[in-house]
Amino acid sequence: PGLARVRMLRSWGGVCDMSMDGSPIITTGPLPGMYLNCGWCYGGFKATPVSGWCFAWTIAKDEPHDINAPFTLDRFHRGLVIDDKGQGATPRLH
Ligand SMILES: Cc1cc2nc3c(=O)[nH]c(=O)nc-3n(C[C@H](O)[C@H](O)[C@H](O)COP(=O)(O)OP(=O)(O)OC[C@H]3O[C@@H](n4cnc5c(N)ncnc54)[C@H](O)[C@@H]3O)c2cc1C
Repeated sequence: PGLARVRMLRSWGGVCDMSMDGSPIITTGPLPGMYLNCGWCYGGFKATPVSGWCFAWTIAKDEPHDINAPFTLDRFHRGLVIDDKGQGATPRLH
């Protein structure tokens, strides 16, 4: 009732898998035979073709392709986050 007269075009509420640098994780590990493709934030639809291709490469060869090599899980541990110039949404902006 408190919002009954608020004019709103559209809204969305829910959880979203966010990485701390706004870039996804496409990688092997951390366990043998485990592959991760997640942390897509708000960009996982449009990146599907090339990320799928890279992910297939990563699984088939058990090592990342050059394109997704930086998108590791341990980059957060090593301090090597992706410098994407803030083009995407990042958790620290919310
Ligand atoms: C409001 C909004 C707008 C967006 N707009 C765009 C856009 O315009 N363009 C764009 O490119 N991207 C957009 N995105 C981002 C895009 O939707 C996501 O990046 C993409 O859907 C991620 O795909 P995914 O398969 O990695 O994860 P998800 O689609 O989240 O799939 C994960 C799946 O795992 C399932 N799951 C979770 N836990 C378990 C469990 N324990 N056991 C079994 N299953 C489980 C979930 O039910 C879900 O089906 C938007 C996202 C949001 C929220």
